[in-house]
Formats: sequence, C-alpha cells, structure tokens
Amino acid sequence: MRAVAMFPAEKKIRLVERPAPVVKSADQVRLRMLEVGVCGTDHEIARFEYGTPPAGEPYLVIGHESLGQVVEVGGDVTELKAGDLVVTTVRRPCNRPECRPCQHRRPDYCVTGAYTERGIKGLHGFMTEEVVDEARNMHLVPPAIADVAVLTEPLTIAEKALDELAPVLTRMPWIDPTKEEKRGLNAVVLGAGPVGLLGALALLVRGFDTWVYSREDAKSARAAWIESVGGHYIQSSAVPVGQLGKQVGNVDLILEATGSAALSTAALPSIGANGVMILTGVPGGVAEVSIDAQRIMRDLVLENQLIYGTVNAGPRAFQHAIEDLAKFEARWPKQVRALITGRFPPENIGDVLAGKDAIKSVIKFSDASLGGRRG
Ligand SMILES: [Zn+2]
Ligand SMILES: [Zn+2]
Repeated sequence: MRAVAMFPAEKKIRLVERPAPVVKSADQVRLRMLEVGVCGTDHEIARFEYGTPPAGEPYLVIGHESLGQVVEVGGDVTELKAGDLVVTTVRRPCNRPECRPCQHRRPDYCVTGAYTERGIKGLHGFMTEEVVDEARNMHLVPPAIADVAVLTEPLTIAEKALDELAPVLTRMPWIDPTKEEKRGLNAVVLGAGPVGLLGALALLVRGFDTWVYSREDAKSARAAWIESVGGHYIQSSAVPVGQLGKQVGNVDLILEATGSAALSTAALPSIGANGVMILTGVPGGVAEVSIDAQRIMRDLVLENQLIYGTVNAGPRAFQHAIEDLAKFEARWPKQVRALITGRFPPENIGDVLAGKDAIKSVIKFSDASLGGRRG
C-alpha cells in the first residue's frame, strides 16, 4: 500500500510502498484512510525541522489529522463495526510507571516527554491507505459530518483550550455557563489559520463575542469569512496588538493561534480585567523577544489575569470537537466546508506542501462507502 514518507537523512518526502498493517490483538481496529489533513506541523516535518521516525527505521510516514473508515475489528471491540467513520487520536502514552498522566491515559499531559505521536514522533502516521490502532484511540464520527470530519483533530486544539477554560470561568459567579448566548464575554483569536478559524467557531457557538486578529487585508476572503459567521475581523496593520481593548472593549479571552512569540508577548497588555490568554502555537524562531515584565506582572496581579499554554488533546477534546463540528455544520455549512480548500491525491503531496494560500489542504485516499450502513 502507498504511504507518504519523510526521510530525514536524505531530506526527502516521497511515496513509499509498505505492507498493509494487520490486526494483531483483540482490541485493535483496521481502518481504510479516507482523508488526511496537512497542517503547519507537517510543513515543519517537510522542512526536516521536526518529526522522528520509529526507532531504527529510515523514514516516518507523516499525517496526524485523519478520517478513516473501519474495515475490520478485533474480537474484543464492541463499540465499533465495519463501515463506521472514525477519527484517531495522535499521542500515545510513554508507559513509564512514574508518569501519572500517561498511566491515566492522558499522554497530552505526559511529564517525561517520552510520549510518541502518530505521524510526528516515533510512530508512523495516517497518510497511508490503511492503519491499525487500538479502538480506545478512535472516536466515532456521525456520517452527517463526514465532509468536514477531517477538521476534528485541528479543532481539538481549541477544544482542549476551552475545556480548560470552563473551570476558570466558574471563578466569576456572574457568568452563567448554562446561558451560552448571554455570556457577555469578548474573545480575540490571534491568527486566521485553520486552528484560529476553527477556534473562532468554537467560541461563537459558546456565545463569545468573537474577534479574529490577523495580517490579511480587511477586504480579504478570510476577513469576509469571519464576518459571515458572525465574528469581527481586525487587520493587524490597523490596530496594534497591544491595544485590542480600544476596539473590542474588555478583552476577556485571547486565544493565540500564530506561533509567534513576538506577537503573543506584544498582545499581553491587551488582556482585560479578569482576562485569560491561552497560547497554542509553538514558536520556531530563535530571536529573543523582550517584554515589559514589570507591567505584565502588575497587570497579572491587579487584574486577576491568567496565561496558560495547551498542547495536543485528550479524549474529551476529541469528543467535543466532533459534537461542535455537527453544530458548525448545522449553523454554517457553507463556511465550514470552505475551510477545506483542496483535496489532492497522495502523489501531489509535494505541491500541497509547497502551496501557501490554502486554509486546509487534504490528502484524499478513498471515498467513504456509506451504502452498506443504511441497509
Ligand atoms: Zn496538525
Ligand atoms: Zn508520560
């Protein structure tokens, strides 16, 4: 079967032929891959800045944003059956006895750093025709969102961030978590890439007045997309990132999705009273960024502010992402589908990785065969 592989020593990305994987234990499931999304992490892997093949192997099969269809289930698997659509999680536990998060099956909180990630670190990924994994790493996708379910994994970044935000918001008893439409909270997303745009939708369905701050022109297609879902767009050249409050009012939440340390630290003075800033990007640069630590510490204390980072995602975030995609699809079907800007065969991976303007490019291996499920 075909797979897209990155060879770190040769500095090459190319298609390889591999033997198809087989179900080896009763808790495993074999999937036919339908679609695999390409993201910034894949671009970094393709620049040979990131990504580790499995121990002793010359290449890494890339791809971590997947949608697959169940072909075969092991004898102990009762929750999935042939024909089901699933999204598979990415990170796997380090299996070290001292790592309580991994013992608890939350490798997104791994404390040893010895976790593995499919398609990124030490395990082959999903950009291939067939995949075998344990059923417990898979999340069932309703057929109604099959068109957009490949966006589940990139959406889990915002979902984990917002899962962690929920208990933080309960510190403010005047905010009723059950009245999503009347929260009266302002959120600003930094960055209009897929993580930022999906994050904006997740904030909008939670009733945040949502702004997206990015470089694109205020007349660009992305700005229009944001206005069309009920968000507001701020072109970065029009408003310094440290003065967002002038346009937004009290900035209750900043969701960073740029990976820029310079932009993120320049945004710190914009965090409002009792506000929160969540960082999701990983800066790749080496240039030092200076910050006004006196002001930042003073604001953090005097305004009850909170800054936290979040990486990867656990089962709950995947579940919430699938639920939210169904909400997005019901509310903004055209806009959600527009996030997937192109579907390409695996042979075109070179062009896809070279492309720049796409929001989300997807490598398509096969169509879902949904006919058998209806009978
Ligand atoms: Zn990704
Ligand atoms: Zn661990």
